[in-house]
Amino acid sequence: MRTPRAARALLAGVYLRGIGLHRRPLPGEEPTALQPEPRGAAINTQRVQGFSSSSDCALQVCVVGSGPAGFYAAQHVLKLQKSAIVDVYEKLPVPFGLVRFGVAPDHPEVKNVINSFTQTMHHGRCSFYGNITVGKDISVEELKQAYHVVILAYGAQDNLMLEIPGESLHGVYSARSIVEWYNGVPGIQNLNPDLSCETAVILGQGNVALDVARILISPIDLLKKTDITSYSLEAIAASKVKRVLIVGRRGPLQVAFTIKPRPRKRLTELMVKTALEKPSAKEAKRQEEAAKEWGLRFLRSPVQILPTSDGKHVAGIRLSVNKLEGSGESLRSIQTEELEDVECGLVLSSIGYKSHPISSSFPFDNKKRVIPNHLGRVLNTPGLYCSGWVKRGPTGVILTTMNDSFETAESVVKDVKSGSLNLSVPKAGFSAVQALLQQRGVCLVSFPGWEKINEAELAKGAKLGKSREKLSNQEGHD
Ligand SMILES: Cc1cc2nc3c(=O)[nH]c(=O)nc-3n(C[C@H](O)[C@H](O)[C@H](O)COP(=O)(O)OP(=O)(O)OC[C@H]3O[C@@H](n4cnc5c(N)ncnc54)[C@H](O)[C@@H]3O)c2cc1C
Repeated sequence: MRTPRAARALLAGVYLRGIGLHRRPLPGEEPTALQPEPRGAAINTQRVQGFSSSSDCALQVCVVGSGPAGFYAAQHVLKLQKSAIVDVYEKLPVPFGLVRFGVAPDHPEVKNVINSFTQTMHHGRCSFYGNITVGKDISVEELKQAYHVVILAYGAQDNLMLEIPGESLHGVYSARSIVEWYNGVPGIQNLNPDLSCETAVILGQGNVALDVARILISPIDLLKKTDITSYSLEAIAASKVKRVLIVGRRGPLQVAFTIKPRPRKRLTELMVKTALEKPSAKEAKRQEEAAKEWGLRFLRSPVQILPTSDGKHVAGIRLSVNKLEGSGESLRSIQTEELEDVECGLVLSSIGYKSHPISSSFPFDNKKRVIPNHLGRVLNTPGLYCSGWVKRGPTGVILTTMNDSFETAESVVKDVKSGSLNLSVPKAGFSAVQALLQQRGVCLVSFPGWEKINEAELAKGAKLGKSREKLSNQEGHD
């Protein structure tokens, strides 16, 4: 069995081989760190030296996670604190978190934020170090030794389970894994979801559920020019799924999804209109002729996933009919005794993401699954901050994440100004971490390394008539 570190060295190798940069370690040799970017490290050392003799040395900041929360926090600290040097550490070999691996391929405009993140990375006081899992390759305590400030922005890496009988049947997947599959998260392309049935049920009525439903039944011509992975495009083209039902435990007024830029009132009006208005003859004909369809089913909770007669596959889902009780904040959906079975061959659970602690050295709220904090300051842990989904829970869009990351950055800067962060002691920043990573044989990917991967992906996409073809493990096995 591969150790996690060996698996990740392989993963980095997959990307690096994809761009012709990888050299396999010789037998007995430590894996070689890819260091085409002395820029960040050199600047850091220079700056630390430059400031070390003064009473106010460079503010060494490290950010854990390169999703929107990490980038926006980095961007704002750099803007507000001219002495700050910011290093962003990322578990995956490539940056951008859910912007790259979550946002649906048919929403390319959302990914434009990558341009501003790239600008941040080109800032002379900012560096990216990919393929480093904080908590494994380097501990939070070691980062605290090396930096004045550590901002935890590592998102919500797990998903909530349904915890009902039948969850392990063939044909049950988390919506997260389907999203990762079509978006090319390294290591997941062999998921091969079984799309041989006609009806899919998605449990949960958030934006992710809508994304997945749309991707499953969109015309292939709409998808094929996007950055969707070619292997998933092929599978979706061959899919037999023609009906997607999106099930929620509450009513239409409580749905979690949003339709940009419509406010909730407009969304509700749209749903009521669609449900009650008799379609025109033309629209009715169009609907009748449609090869694929989707629908919302409200006030239903999953009770059991029903097996086929051999007990192996999904044959359907048993739902309880719910009623709403209470109002406002105390509104609850209550299961009644009435049950309803829906025949389907695919069940996707889209009931939410959750964060986990990556160290026992800082507090973690196991109930809310967030790091307890005040305006981004981790409680009772000076020098430690948090932003994004790990700070406020896995809800909200990129804009929400931007605002709370700015809040965190402002807390950092206020703490510098108030003197509650001690800058009289210089910190070594990346050079201290680099030494540890080298000792541990960690193979890191720098931002110029990512830019080469980016170029290779764009070139590969252009050949296929797509906006991008992501490198994935498949390349590693070529
Ligand atoms: C499927 C999906 C689709 C979405 N679509 C949209 C959309 O269309 N528009 C929109 O505005 N919002 C969308 N969102 C919401 C948006 O993606 C989030 O608001 C945002 O990504 C949260 O940012 P984050 O940085 O907290 O988390 P993430 O984006 O998850 O970033 C966290 C980063 O930390 C890294 N990391 C994790 N653990 C470690 C570790 N131990 N060490 C180092 N690095 C680590 C991860 O690899 C990741 O890169 C979507 C979300 C999902 C799940």
